[in-house]
Amino acid sequence: MNKETTQTVKELLACPQKIVVVGHKNPDGDAIGSCLGLSHFLKQFGHEVSVIMPNDFPEFLKWLPGVDSIKIYEKQKDETAQLIEAANVIFTLDFNTLERVGEMCELFKSATAKFVMIDHHQQPDNYAVATYSDVSMSSTCEMVYHFINAVQESDTITEEIAINLYTGIMTDTGSFRFSSTSPTTHRVAAKLIEAGAQSAIINQNVYDNNSPDRMRLLGVALNNLVILPEMNTAYITLTQKELDDNNFKKGDTEGFVNYALSIKGVLFAVIFIENKNEDMVKISFRSKGQFSVNEFARNHFSGGGHNNAAGGKSSQDLNKTVNDFISILPRYKNQLTNAL
Ligand code: 5GP
Ligand code: MN
Repeated sequence: MNKETTQTVKELLACPQKIVVVGHKNPDGDAIGSCLGLSHFLKQFGHEVSVIMPNDFPEFLKWLPGVDSIKIYEKQKDETAQLIEAANVIFTLDFNTLERVGEMCELFKSATAKFVMIDHHQQPDNYAVATYSDVSMSSTCEMVYHFINAVQESDTITEEIAINLYTGIMTDTGSFRFSSTSPTTHRVAAKLIEAGAQSAIINQNVYDNNSPDRMRLLGVALNNLVILPEMNTAYITLTQKELDDNNFKKGDTEGFVNYALSIKGVLFAVIFIENKNEDMVKISFRSKGQFSVNEFARNHFSGGGHNNAAGGKSSQDLNKTVNDFISILPRYKNQLTNAL
């Protein structure tokens, strides 16, 4: 974090404040871990801190230290609206445009608080008085670690902070596999382990917590896998009925798209998930190497993210969405066949 941003943040936090810390809609391990890690840090200095998420999040994160204090906008609309209205400072973590919080966005647009953004996604909006944006970072959790060191000028990290930040780094790097994992990421992870994050236990809590329903749904997803060898592309579809038949719960499809990407020769993998409640199809894009799924999602599916991991959506039905996707692909044939 640069000197100017550090100075602005230090001034903002110089006396106790009413603070709201918020993550993006459909929060993942990095969003929850970074918000909780930061909130544990801020509470040490007498700030009144509330962590708010736009909607619910997966069971496999519901053991994190402090998780019970999280308020969910969709379930506690009045209470969260009051907290946002009363806040002096709002930290927005792991997203770069206010639209990423969904309906809650309106509350932020009318808020009087000063905003601080900590985020590693591409092309950040300019709504914050302090923007700590770095697209080379593995995760927002790694950035919160650097943020803490910058503002407190020491590396004292409590166990609660360490567990939350380690979890987000681990999940956002695919367990230290993705190319965003730098030597510094490993150094930060080592510091967090020294501070009390037990890697084996965190891995078990996150990854060995599958329900039989999720495993059956994975079977359905793999059965639906389509490979387009001439495009080095693979995609998976899941209909609302398939989700319902397997008692779908939030987070159950997390990581499914990586199975498509793990196929030899596949550089571009996509999962299309029908959501009849919201009348849309949620799409996750993943790639290996140079092919930018951020660009692809931005250009064609109202989304965005990172070079190798992005999301998007379509308001067309599932079949039409997939057909549109297939018809767009030939434009990228050169990139997809020369990417490795
Ligand atoms: P996922 O596919 O796991 O939902 O998201 C992959 C990455 O893209 C995450 O970093 C996520 O924050 C980002 N992302 C997902 N959906 C969207 C979207 O609609 N817009 C933008 N800008 N980013 C997204
Ligand atoms: Mn992230």
